[in-house]
Formats: sequence, C-alpha cells, structure tokens
Amino acid sequence: RIGTAALAVQVVGSNWPKPHYTLLVTGLCRFQILQLLKEKPYPVAEVEQLDRLEQFTNQQKSEEELGELSEQFYKYAVQLVEMLDMSVPAVAKLRHLLDNLPREALPDILTSIIRTSNQEKLQILDAVRLEERFKMTIPLLVRQIEGLKLLQKTRKPKQDDDKRVVAIRPNRRINHIPSTTEDEEEEDHDDVVMLEKKIRTSSMSEQALKVCLKEIKRLKKMPQSMPEYALTRNYLELMVELPWNKSTKDRLEIRAARILLDNDHYAMEKLKKRVLEYLAVRQLKNNLKGPILCFVGPPGVGKTSVGRSVAKTLGREFHRIALGGVCDQSDIRGHRRTYVGSMPGRIINGLKTVGVNNPVFLLDEVDKLGKSLQGDPAAALLEVLDPEQNHSFTDHYLNVAFDLSQVLFIATANTTATIPPALLDRMEIIQVPGYTQEEKIEIAHRHLIPKQLEQHGLTPQQIQIPQVTTLDIITRYTREAGVRSLDRRLGAICRAVAVKVAEGQHKDAKPDRAEGADGEDCKEHVAEEAKPESISDTADLALPPEMPILIDFHALKDILGPPMYEMEVSERLSQPGVAIGLAWTPLGGEIMFVEASRMDGEGQLTLTGQLGDVMKESAHLAISWLRSNAKRFQLTNASGSFDLLDNTDIHLHFPAGAVTKDGPSAGVTIVTCLASLFSGRLVCSDVAMTGEITLRGLVLPVGGIKDKVLAAHRAGLKRIIIPRRNEKDLEEIAVNVRQDLTFVMASCLDEVLNAAFDGGFAVKPAVERLNSKL
Ligand code: ADP
Repeated sequence: RIGTAALAVQVVGSNWPKPHYTLLVTGLCRFQILQLLKEKPYPVAEVEQLDRLEQFTNQQKSEEELGELSEQFYKYAVQLVEMLDMSVPAVAKLRHLLDNLPREALPDILTSIIRTSNQEKLQILDAVRLEERFKMTIPLLVRQIEGLKLLQKTRKPKQDDDKRVVAIRPNRRINHIPSTTEDEEEEDHDDVVMLEKKIRTSSMSEQALKVCLKEIKRLKKMPQSMPEYALTRNYLELMVELPWNKSTKDRLEIRAARILLDNDHYAMEKLKKRVLEYLAVRQLKNNLKGPILCFVGPPGVGKTSVGRSVAKTLGREFHRIALGGVCDQSDIRGHRRTYVGSMPGRIINGLKTVGVNNPVFLLDEVDKLGKSLQGDPAAALLEVLDPEQNHSFTDHYLNVAFDLSQVLFIATANTTATIPPALLDRMEIIQVPGYTQEEKIEIAHRHLIPKQLEQHGLTPQQIQIPQVTTLDIITRYTREAGVRSLDRRLGAICRAVAVKVAEGQHKDAKPDRAEGADGEDCKEHVAEEAKPESISDTADLALPPEMPILIDFHALKDILGPPMYEMEVSERLSQPGVAIGLAWTPLGGEIMFVEASRMDGEGQLTLTGQLGDVMKESAHLAISWLRSNAKRFQLTNASGSFDLLDNTDIHLHFPAGAVTKDGPSAGVTIVTCLASLFSGRLVCSDVAMTGEITLRGLVLPVGGIKDKVLAAHRAGLKRIIIPRRNEKDLEEIAVNVRQDLTFVMASCLDEVLNAAFDGGFAVKPAVERLNSKL
C-alpha cells in the first residue's frame, strides 16, 4: 500500500508498431494509501505523505540521527563506484552525486543502480524509516561489490587486489589484448604505417587524400577491438586499391576493329556498322561525350559478346555489371559507412576489380531494374551515365568524388518498354533482331561448334555435325530468336560424344600397356585411331563407334531425345475457328494461335489466355465489325440469323494460357478466326497475319515486323499478311527469308480475309442454301 509520488516530466508516445508510451518522471516522496476512492477510469485515492519533501535541505539534522549507519553506507557506495570504469560519463556523474547529495537520498538512488531483483527494490521502497532503508541496502551493496571482485578475479588471475581496481579502467588498449598477442599488435601497427605510406604515395585526388589522412589518424588512436577499426581499415585499403590515375592505353585502329568484329560475329550488320561508327568517332576525337550505346534484342543474339569485342578492339579491360533485379539504389551508389556491413556500390567495386579507370562497363539487363522503398536504382544510374556529371561521381561509401568520365558504358536490354524514360533518353538504342535459320546455321558452324569442341576437348576428326543436323536442331529442338539454346544443345551433343571417345581411348590404351609399349607409341596409336581411315584397321579393338562420330538424325534422337517442336501448324488448322497470328515478345517473335468457338447463350463474349486490356478491346472491335458486315459476307449464327450474337455465346482463347499477352496487333487474326467460325470455312494452313484494326475495318501498322516474320519463317509458314504501311520494314529482312515467303499487304480487312481463305472470302452468289435454312 506504499507508493511513490512523482512529477511527470516528459511523455513520449508512438503508434508504431503498436501504441506505446515512455514516461519520464521525477520521484518526490513516498506515500501511503489510506482509502481507495475509485478505480476507474484511473485509480483515485486518499493518501498520506510519508517522506518529508524538505528533507533534502535539512542535511545537518539527518546526519546526526543516522551517524554510523550512514557513514558505513557511504563507504560501501564509494567502494562500489570506484570499482567501475571512471571513464564512462555516467559513472563519473554517480561519483559526483555521492559527495553532493544528502545521505538520506542515497539508498534510493543506489538501489535503482545496482543489480537487484524487482522484489528487493520494492522492499526498499516500502521501507519508510530511513534507518531501515539503510540497513536493507547495505547487504545489497556488499553483494554487488563481492560479485564484481569475483568477476575481476576470473578476468585477471595474476593481478593482486590493490591493482585490480585501477586496472579495469585506464589504458583500454592494453587491457583488452591478452599479453600473448603483443607481437601481433606490433605487426598491426606496422601494417598501419605501411597503409599510411601507401596512401601518401598513391595517386588519389587531393580531396580523397585529405579524407584518408584524417581517417588514418583516427585509426592510429583506435583500439583494435573496436568494430570501427576494421571498418576504417577496410575503407582505407579500398581507397588505396582504387585506380585513381591508372589507365590502359587505347589502341584503336578501325580496320583492325572491323576485322575483329567480323571474326567474332557472323551477321548482325547493322549493329556492327553502328559500333564501328562509334569507334571511328572515338579514334578521331579522343574525349567523346557521346550517347551511351544500348543494345536491345532477344536473349542470346550476342549483345554481351559484342560488348566484350568492343573492349578487345580498344584494348581495354571488360567488366559486366548485371542489373537484373537490382532494386536498391545503394547497389549502384553504395551504403554509407555508418551502416553495419556497408560496402561500395557495383560501379566502384567493378573499378576495384579491373584495376584501371578506363574499362568498358557492360550494364547488362537495364530493362530489369527494379524499384523499392530503398530508392530507385535507375535514378542513381542517371548520374553514372551522364557525361556532364560523372566526372565527380560520389559513392556513398567512399564519400569522395571519383572520376568516371573515362569509363565506356554499354548497356543491354531485352525491351525498351520497361527502361525508365529518363534513362532511355541518355542512351542510343540499337535494335538487335533475332537470327534467320540460315544465319543460325552459319553461326553454329563458324563459332558455336568450334567453341564447344574446344571446351570439351574434342577435335573435328572425332565428331562431325553436318549442316542438315544443325538445321534439325534449330527447327525441332529449339524455338528461339537467339542462339543460346542451340549452343546448349550442341554442348549436350559434345558431352555425349566425349563419353564415347573417352571410352574408346580407354579400351584402346589398355592392351597397348599390357604389351609394354612406351607412352609415346601409345599416344600415337590413339591419335591414329582418331582418323577416319583407321576405322577398318582397328575394328578388332572393339572401339564402340566409328570415328569420326557423325551426328545424323538418329544420333540426334539418341542424345537429345525425341524432337520437342514438330510442325503442328497444319494439324491445328483442320477446324474452322482457328487462325495464326504473329506476336512480338522480348524474347523475339512468336506465332500465336487464336481459337474461337460458339455455343448457345445470351450473346456474351468470353476471353481467356491472360489478355491485357488492349487485346480485349481488339476482340470487341473484331466482333463489332463482323456483326456490322455479317450480311455482306453472309455470316450467320447457328440458327441462321445475321445477328451473330443472337442466342449465341462466343469464346475466344489465346494459347499458351499462362503467358500474359497484350497489344493491338492481334486484331486481324481475331477477325479472321471469327470469320472462319461463322462461315464454317477453314483458314489456309500456311498463312500468318498481324495488324491492328479499326472499327471501320482499316488495317493499321504494327511494330516488330522483322521478328514476327522470322518467327513465321521458323514455323514453316509460307504466306504472311501484314499492314500495307509496314511494307518498308520488309527491307530489313534477309533476302533468302523473303524469297521463301509471300507477303500480302493489306490496308483493309476485306483484303485480309480474301488472302486468308482459299479462293478469297468475297460474297459468293450461292446464298440460296442459307436462305433455305431460314
Ligand atoms: P545476349 O547478351 O544477347 O543475351 P550473348 O552475347 O550472351 O547473348 O550470346 C550468347 C552466345 O551466342 C555467345 O556465346 C555468343 O558468342 C554467341 N553468339 C550470338 N550471336 C553471335 C554471332 N552473331 N556470331 C557469333 N556468335 C554469336
């Protein structure tokens, strides 16, 4: 029933994560509850004051009363405080309080400081008589002192009692390091001196030097056990390692660059031309503040590899910075050094790795930069890429400016749609379209196969992959715009062949050794085996395959399994209500089937296949146009009415259902598909189409024609309907692809339908059959 009256000095509250308050109070005196008046909403009681408030002023009197007890208490209290580390401000303050506060106040204060249970603390609070309070607190003090003594004994067994008290405070540096590591300390000290020497001799900027010298001064004073010691040291080591003034010499010769680019890469003429222009300007004008090149195209078309070639032609170091999924701006700009685990951003890290200040940095996948609460990395990249600003790029970790103006940045992306506009503005986009089948075959035979053979330790004498097989791999085992899967398949073939060859060598080598032939002979023999002529001679050695191993279709099936992609086009177009569209994705062009079916219902349109809003609108447009033209084309619903939606529901589906699709270019395909459904006629099986439609039946141009045409060609289609205004885009397509295909230019939907159906779609006079149904 005893409490403490107090004065609230400060109330601090917050609502997050849940409501809580912190109350700062100054205790006044003890009181006793006489009678509880009410409990809710808060307790109100009649109380009696137990302590005198003025006691603090009346020092003389109290001391007389307590005499020896208070003296004894004071002695213990001083002993306890002396055992603590005086350099801690709170301890010094406590020492000061001991001398200046009236003795009566001390039991309360010391009880709140020493380690006791809440129970004991409450007991002291309950003790109203001062004498009682002193008596109760003294044992607690003694207990604490004994505890501290024990602790010191276990820490420093060798030191005697008198020294112990002193030893825990001053010279912290020596205290914390056991004597056995004194040598190490010496060594570390030498290291710091070395580091200082390195800093002074390094070629860092004046500003950086100033910061470093300041830091090293701090480092010298710092005890090694402090976490900050390691941090500062790492920082200084990084500063010394950075290539402030170190660069490679550019050796740029356009003719050599052209040869190197041509040797490394087949096709991609447009890209190579632009890269050469860029390099030529660099050769003429040394300090180019030109735009950043950004290669945009599907995966596996050689964007990264061209970047690497550019570095090679310039004789510069190459470093790739993968930006896919980066969503924190400190990834680019580093963390401030105040954070635990702080580190520099990827740009500064890259510079440290390459060790020169003029490398080629390839910013890979800029279209896949994320955004999060931790800031926008694209915004940080803006500063890096801006030639006006990047001579003084300040990484948060370094906290001093670093000159990035000598770095050559090249970016790559799959699509420009997701690159932030401000970033896009800084870059010059160079589109890298997918390859045709012929180009892929050439790339495979000129670059991929030789590379794979080398990686697997094979020689052309051991394995032969004819062009027809490559074509088979391209058409039946891959469906992509680039050559990455093709490269993987070739790798799989090489692995399988490597096993056969290794087995053959093993079997071959054994009998030779048994005969005691020396190593040289053995090797020669094996080499001979590898030659095709020797097959018959060595047949009795039971070499499993003949050499060289020829990869034909059967071998392909054995190694890669049954073909993954078959020409299924004609099969799927065997019913009315199916048409083939052409779609563009960041992975290149693709053919896309559109399926429609109708059933009894109330005139509803169902769309499935994860469509975006634009595509849904295209579907509505297509239906509206067909309804308004139903009579002209003699299109009827199941019951023969020209109102196509009368008692009829329509379902349109776009496989593959799990891939999100959007864009206006499916318009013509949807119209064709529905026209086929309502007329009951089949769409030609070799036709693909693309184009946006209007309500009045016009066909508008769309993007990505080259990729779409290549996709149609890959899928073995023969005729392609494109908007008339896209005719100019056909020039970009290789002649051999164009020769294989027939292009139909359409400016209105009538032309599209006429081209999509055998014999055209125009109204036929034979309408009587339908009339008779009515
Ligand atoms: P991307 O960066 O466009 O995704 P990469 O540059 O990683 O693609 O290319 C994948 C592989 O394909 C590389 O091994 C590269 O050498 C090869 N490659 C791509 N295009 C060509 C080409 N035109 N000529 C030679 N090799 C190529």
